[in-house]
Amino acid sequence: MKKFQPQPGFVVQAFRFALDPSAGQEQALRSHCGAARAAYNWAVGWVTASWWQRHAEETYGIPEPELTDWRPWSLPALRKAFNEAKHADPRFAGWWEENSKEAYSTGLANAAAAFDNYAKSKNGKRKGKRVGMPRFKSKRKARLACRFTTGAIRVEADGRHVTLPRLGTIRVHEPTVKLLGRVQAGTVRILSATVRHERGRWFVAFQVETAREIHRVTRPGIAVGIDLGVKTLAVMADSTGEIREVPNPGHLDRALKLLRRASRTVSRRQGPDRRTGRKASKRWEKANAARNRVHHRVANLRADALHKLTTAVTAEYGTVVVEDLNVAGMLRNRRLARRIADAGFAEIRRQLTYKTKRNGCRIVAADRWFPSSKTCSGCGEVKAKLPLHVRTYECDACGLVIDRDDNAARNLAALAAVVATGTGVAGDQGAKAPKPCGADQKTRTTRPSRKARAGRAGGTTQPHQRQTETGDRTQAEALTLW
Ligand SMILES: [Zn+2]
Repeated sequence: MKKFQPQPGFVVQAFRFALDPSAGQEQALRSHCGAARAAYNWAVGWVTASWWQRHAEETYGIPEPELTDWRPWSLPALRKAFNEAKHADPRFAGWWEENSKEAYSTGLANAAAAFDNYAKSKNGKRKGKRVGMPRFKSKRKARLACRFTTGAIRVEADGRHVTLPRLGTIRVHEPTVKLLGRVQAGTVRILSATVRHERGRWFVAFQVETAREIHRVTRPGIAVGIDLGVKTLAVMADSTGEIREVPNPGHLDRALKLLRRASRTVSRRQGPDRRTGRKASKRWEKANAARNRVHHRVANLRADALHKLTTAVTAEYGTVVVEDLNVAGMLRNRRLARRIADAGFAEIRRQLTYKTKRNGCRIVAADRWFPSSKTCSGCGEVKAKLPLHVRTYECDACGLVIDRDDNAARNLAALAAVVATGTGVAGDQGAKAPKPCGADQKTRTTRPSRKARAGRAGGTTQPHQRQTETGDRTQAEALTLW
């Protein structure tokens, strides 16, 4: 799928507002999202039907050129086929006119993207985890969402309403001033609007193309290294030597007592059972809603805290250095998974990435195997081993005693200084660089695969051999710039 490219000097941004729809509008919202799902399922069925047909024909021994044709899955092709099917197919009879055509378009576009991802993943053109064949979306589990790209999409001048095609004018829960001001000044162009049901509430997100506003950072020349952790959410060391700590709010941990209580109440009441077709009791519904409220509050508190942290960091420093953490791998550790997920490491990284871009500063990611914890921030000595329970770093070479996380943050900040001053660029042998160390085992649970890092296969390599192997590696090589 082609991604929308903004014109030079412009960025694509989203403005998201909670909605307060009336009962009738809520019904219409649900209907649109259901229509999107129906169109998606139709497209998945329509395309895969030709695959199964071909498969069956092959087993009869029909030669290749006489097999049923592959059905195309591009969006225009799906739209064309769907526009014929909606009149002919009995499952759309009598109701498809009730929703905006954009609802069906949403489903078809999602299906086209799903088939595209599957094909690319299969041909090895897509990075990351293998993508499976598109499957049908369940009415019970599917996320309610629908996207409008054409028609009457407006933010009303009163600042409390939005207008969407077919759905009409819907009241917004919070003032829309931020977007409305830009609309009235003529600095934004609305590209699309997406409605979405999330945590019991409806939201609308406007995707807009807007002129890039560079917010000047307050200390452009200063770099900061951020070491993320579970005990202390973030330890930030800047290049002037100042160290700041952001405590881990642990929202989920704090709510766990409440949650246990709420869950106990839920489990004592009569819940739904799909096998026997038993419906949930009113008391169960009530208790379940109360439990969900606790979860929603935790999620809201977390989102708020993370945004405040990342906004503050990207408003202050010219360069931000973070570790390239293998969060997915860390989440496989069942002793740490809950706390890591609660801290939201990956979300911090995502927000830092787009906020630094927006503010005209830059973000640098240290290589996944950069030994930030094991390197001495005083003399550059690298320890071979530093177990997780050792919270204080004691250097054997220079005698430095420093908190483990402070040390790691300082090393990251030092890494930024190397990039900022221009020394240590690949090939510059003058820079004093900590050698990448193989024996580093932090909170990660997965070992690097042979493919991931050639030249360091298996655990048999001795530290001194490793140094000669990677001796030319400088700090800058351990960095990725966005
Ligand atoms: Zn030292």
